[in-house]
Amino acid sequence: MHASVARSAKIARPRRPTDSRWITAGQSAIHGRGVYAREPIPDGTPVIEYTGERITKAEAARRETQRLARQRRGGDDSVYIFNLTNRHDLDGRTRRNVARLINHSCAPNCRIEVVRGRVWITARRDIPAGAELTFDYGFAFPDWALHPCRCGSPRCPGFIVASAQRWRLRRIPRAERTRRAALGRAR
Ligand SMILES: [Zn+2]
Repeated sequence: MHASVARSAKIARPRRPTDSRWITAGQSAIHGRGVYAREPIPDGTPVIEYTGERITKAEAARRETQRLARQRRGGDDSVYIFNLTNRHDLDGRTRRNVARLINHSCAPNCRIEVVRGRVWITARRDIPAGAELTFDYGFAFPDWALHPCRCGSPRCPGFIVASAQRWRLRRIPRAERTRRAALGRAR
């Protein structure tokens, strides 16, 4: 899902739930369950590692097809797949990857960071205790209609698109966005 995370991240499947002193999981104001700051988190803190299974692009495409089928049935439609390299993705859909619960926001308080080959969710500003943690999922523009956004930030265009491409979405009139989203396709 996320563009340019790492050229060669070494990803190990976690054996037990990833943990962090900084966070606690709970019901999200944005979508499903979310992750909250347990105490004030200083800007730049690596908050929790994003772990999962390293898979090929072909396997990632197969899993995305499954996800869309679940979405049509009204099941769990969450996306946990990151672009790691040209050949491999990271599938974070494992209960042990607590960071999978962190929601997208168009005005996020965290970012993705690679530290010595491992993917971390890092604070991009000082975060007060009790705030929900978010980062930019960075979805590609062509898929926008598949990913409605309920982040509630003032500049939210209503769909999840990487910040660098969000201007393209804003060019589409709001009524047209609603119509195409109902059809479940961007074009
Ligand atoms: Zn948003």
